[in-house]
Amino acid sequence: MANSIERYFDYAATSPLDRRVLDAMLPYLGEAFGNANSLHQFGYRAREAVETARLQVARLLGAEDPSQIIFTSGATEANNWLLQRFDGVAVSPFEHSSVYEPARQLSKLILSPREFAEGLLRVPVNLISVMAVNNETGERWDARDWSGKGALLHSDATQAVGKVPWTVDGLDFATCSAHKIYGPKGIGCLYFSTDPPETFIYGGEQENGHRGGTLNVPSIVGFGAAAAIAADEREADFTQAKQLRWAILDDLRTLSDVRVHENDKTSPFIMSISFAGVEGETLLVEVDRLGFALSAGAACSSRSNEPSHVLTAMGLEEEWRRGTVRISFGRHCTRDSAAALARTLAQSVEKLRTMTSRQ
Ligand code: PMP
Repeated sequence: MANSIERYFDYAATSPLDRRVLDAMLPYLGEAFGNANSLHQFGYRAREAVETARLQVARLLGAEDPSQIIFTSGATEANNWLLQRFDGVAVSPFEHSSVYEPARQLSKLILSPREFAEGLLRVPVNLISVMAVNNETGERWDARDWSGKGALLHSDATQAVGKVPWTVDGLDFATCSAHKIYGPKGIGCLYFSTDPPETFIYGGEQENGHRGGTLNVPSIVGFGAAAAIAADEREADFTQAKQLRWAILDDLRTLSDVRVHENDKTSPFIMSISFAGVEGETLLVEVDRLGFALSAGAACSSRSNEPSHVLTAMGLEEEWRRGTVRISFGRHCTRDSAAALARTLAQSVEKLRTMTSRQ
């Protein structure tokens, strides 16, 4: 069963397109090809599908009005939009690179782990960005804890939407992406509750003038379909992820020098686990050879040799940081494939530890 989908444990990187989502999209890749802004039947059909999708996404996010959703090319674009358009921004030290990098490049305030834990702001800011679920560890935070500081609140909810109980209630901005919830890649959205940030992509009057560019109708329809399915299946997915997580933890019990980075609020979909005495990357390659897909951390930075800023901000010592892998669960994982993964991890870790101790 090498490379079968049951052995895919990297859902935090991306998820496969749900067959029902593909079916919803297909007409818009075919005969329903109209431009959603055209004033004729082809255009009207596309426009109607886009507005249905906007409603489906708004419902999943718990937004009051679908007009509060602006479709973007993904969460990265939506995060960059906010960070580029606000002066005076503070971000948590744990953000995904699509918030963290613009914050770094544009000299925004990146809170230290201590400032973040204690709710301290060195300078007044206009926007505070705190992600809902961390993509490397599954740790959860609430941007609303920062209310009352005179700043608007943004949460990157890419790993929360459709997975853990979460809504936009009380937030000024939220961002997310379709491909983490079995939708297509390259589509996401910005939610706003007051005024959207100033336009970042100038062009036509699409998205009420907030974002220029012909709408990507098939992908928007796919995002809507994925959102509707996620709204129905979120609880079952959550329960399944919890069971798979427990199963793996139970099966790894006998292995020594293992640390799982979690607390009682951690998202069950993401498991960050460190094995002392092994290199996470080497372990990944070893288990990939045996058909299992995991990640060393964020897929977006998996080609850089820099230590993860998230694990560093958590205060993880070098040895544990190096030996960290991320297992992330989704609909195609099974109890059997999870048990097989735990066995394979245990054997691979022991093999790699023996090899290192012989050197
Ligand atoms: N934020 C988080 C927390 C993510 O996990 C990701 C995807 N890895 C993104 C933002 C970027 O999303 P997209 O792929 O839609 O640009």
